[in-house]
Amino acid sequence: MSTRTISRLTKGMPTQDGAGVSLSRIIGSPYMQRVDPFLMLDEFKSDDPNDYIAGFPSHPHRGFETVTYLIEGSVRHRDHMGSEGYLGPGSIQWMTAGRGIIHEEMPQQENGMLWGFQLWVNLPAKDKMTDPRYQDIPPDQVPETDFPAGLVRILAGELNGKTGPVSGVATEPRFFDIRWEETGSFETPLPLNHTGFVYAYKGDITIGDKAVRMGEVGILSAGEQVQLQAEGGSGALLVAGKPLNEPVVQYGPFVMNTVEEIEQAIQDFQAGRLTA
Ligand code: MN
Repeated sequence: MSTRTISRLTKGMPTQDGAGVSLSRIIGSPYMQRVDPFLMLDEFKSDDPNDYIAGFPSHPHRGFETVTYLIEGSVRHRDHMGSEGYLGPGSIQWMTAGRGIIHEEMPQQENGMLWGFQLWVNLPAKDKMTDPRYQDIPPDQVPETDFPAGLVRILAGELNGKTGPVSGVATEPRFFDIRWEETGSFETPLPLNHTGFVYAYKGDITIGDKAVRMGEVGILSAGEQVQLQAEGGSGALLVAGKPLNEPVVQYGPFVMNTVEEIEQAIQDFQAGRLTA
């Protein structure tokens, strides 16, 4: 079995997005550009309402998927079709924007900690104009499995015979939240050529002879398995997905294959027919 190592390492870049939400851009920054099929990864973590209260008012998406996973706090989303949902601690929303979603994502708290992630996952050309789809998953529908030093929340993909609730995604993702209760190691097989990364959201994680320190992302080499070592109290996201190997043309919240398709998306949005 070939074991994955860290091939690239960087820490997140502090920035703002939405109507003024302070966040750390981990993937999709000048220091770590997109890693196919992952376009972006943000972490928002603050107990200062000024950092998050403005939220993400109405904005469009086309051509990819947005994945929101919350550790603490609460967010409401509402879209142009009038559908509405709430995410609380431990919830995940896997939104397939397809040909178009216009929505808002707003914190539902005026104080306290808001802590979570948004991952952008690309869609293959054949699915970019598909119907929009939500998978809104409450925390009690996320299976957990023990390993000798802690537990794993299985959000997508299979581990120890249990399968995460997110399904039907083109890039065949694995999305695991690994939480160490004591010092030890966690290991799992991964599909050989899936792009994989580890984000250390609490404590430092060691992979091979390299440390991914808290707030850093380690992009993994190809391989059939990965082993993560950490101390009790640590937490990491382990995410993997099948690369698409297609051209990517991105203009903000529109991610297509060609410049012409981006121009079409902008025209459609301006004419009020992005979601038609
Ligand atoms: Mn959005």
